Amino acid sequence: MPPRRSGFRPPGGRRRGIALALTRVTVPREEACARCFRPAEDCLCTRAVRLENRIFVLVLQHPREQRKLIGSASLAQCALARSRVRAGLSWPNLSAALGEPAKPAEWGALFLKPDPRPSGRAIDAYSRRGERQGDLPPLTGFVVLDGTWKQAKTLWWRNPWLLKLRRLTLNPRAPSLRPQARAAGLSTIEAIALTLRELGEDPALAEALMDQYVRLVLEPAQRYLGKGTRHAPDGGEHAG
Ligand SMILES: [Zn+2]
Repeated sequence: MPPRRSGFRPPGGRRRGIALALTRVTVPREEACARCFRPAEDCLCTRAVRLENRIFVLVLQHPREQRKLIGSASLAQCALARSRVRAGLSWPNLSAALGEPAKPAEWGALFLKPDPRPSGRAIDAYSRRGERQGDLPPLTGFVVLDGTWKQAKTLWWRNPWLLKLRRLTLNPRAPSLRPQARAAGLSTIEAIALTLRELGEDPALAEALMDQYVRLVLEPAQRYLGKGTRHAPDGGEHAG
């Protein structure tokens, strides 16, 4: 992940607290686009540039995360040709969550907890029995949980079929562009970009996705810094 991008200044010092508060702002229902849930003036549907990814991205989104101003899952849906965002709490299996037949063995799931003994790689893959794999297996797609840490944990436990997928953990080398509750925390779209790149997609695609994140989500959100904000009732810190 490149550390800096022109035109965007990651919040620091006093601004960090305000920016963290921003992560809890929700877009009022009446002002949200029906598809991307962004305010009309910042709607992603027509602004996002379509990227032809090969590896499918399935985002399982906690329902309370849907209208978060700084949420990035809708960018995945608008920008990635092979992606889907499903809001809900539980699905009976991978195919039901995806909406089409899928083989769990060919899919990965981004796991929340980093390995206490990291390998030094940006991403690690584990077999279903929990053994770390030297080389990343070719995957058809991967699942990302979108919500606060607490919400993501709820999604994890409510969908035991996720254990049938190959577990992936991230060890990001560059910090998130957005304030995170945990040092190694990444926004959903940052986690997606890093995973796509590490699973073998064109690095330029991951780069283009990150540029859109800055231009279409983070930069517009800066306008709201210091403005009146509406806080989500749960107000937890964000997991991904
Ligand atoms: Zn929209």
